[in-house]
Amino acid sequence: MPYADDLLRDVPLATAGLDRCAHRRTEPGLIATLLSDPDTLVLPVCDGHAPVAGPAGPELAWRAPGEGDAAYPAVFLGSAAGRARVAVLVPRADMDATWLGLRVQGADLGPIDAEAFTTAVALGNWHATHTHCPRCGSPTQIATAGWTRRCPEDRSEHFPRTDPAVIMAVVDPDDRLLLARHPTWPAGRLSVLAGFVEPGESLEMAVCREVREEVGLMVRDVRYLGDQPWPFPNSLMLGFEARTDDPTLAIDEAEIAEAFWLTRADYHALVDEGAWGGGTALSISRRLILRWLHG
Ligand SMILES: [Zn+2]
Repeated sequence: MPYADDLLRDVPLATAGLDRCAHRRTEPGLIATLLSDPDTLVLPVCDGHAPVAGPAGPELAWRAPGEGDAAYPAVFLGSAAGRARVAVLVPRADMDATWLGLRVQGADLGPIDAEAFTTAVALGNWHATHTHCPRCGSPTQIATAGWTRRCPEDRSEHFPRTDPAVIMAVVDPDDRLLLARHPTWPAGRLSVLAGFVEPGESLEMAVCREVREEVGLMVRDVRYLGDQPWPFPNSLMLGFEARTDDPTLAIDEAEIAEAFWLTRADYHALVDEGAWGGGTALSISRRLILRWLHG
């Protein structure tokens, strides 16, 4: 049985493997230089997918720079195992059957591949959706080796967004865990509660508000446990536990289709009968559930 708190120390996608070498991003022509160096390792990325080494291989298919790479937007990811790493944001036409999504592959990747793929997907999503200047509407240009965009009209500089979201294991006085299902999820898909942090809120305030809004509970003893980059499309999931003294639920049906308290016996019964898988292996939600189970 794992130690409960270790479950939040090696969360999938949150394992450091790269030296990001941020000081190199301003080197003039860095991407062009790296793409003309056969020692550089290139990862083609499109829409959250990248090629893997085998049909179900746990390794990404890094390759040497190719002739067409310079035509596409690219990101300098940093260095690992002595090799510079560049993600090239290629069009859909380049994808084939060897490509897999980060959602499918992410939990099985080693630290270098996990950090590189997660970073490339997050920046790819940002570049794809932030093509114009929010000040003047002009098309922006990729800059600093893929880490910013610049407006050629008003010279403004734009940085990638990461949206903080809280995700929380809420426990009642009988040590039961609260599980819920979003209205758009199929039957049998369950998770702990989660929601985006709003402007003007601390993380603890966001935990208390989301729980109150979604299921009508007042919580206390909000405690941070661990976090996870979640580039679908650009979140950072911040994991918490919280306790409530009164388990009476008042569900907001616009946000929650069902919510209920789970005992450890309930957990084993649901999983054993195949009604629920215990949560997605990739997500920090699964780790929060396991921590409660072993806690
Ligand atoms: Zn502008």
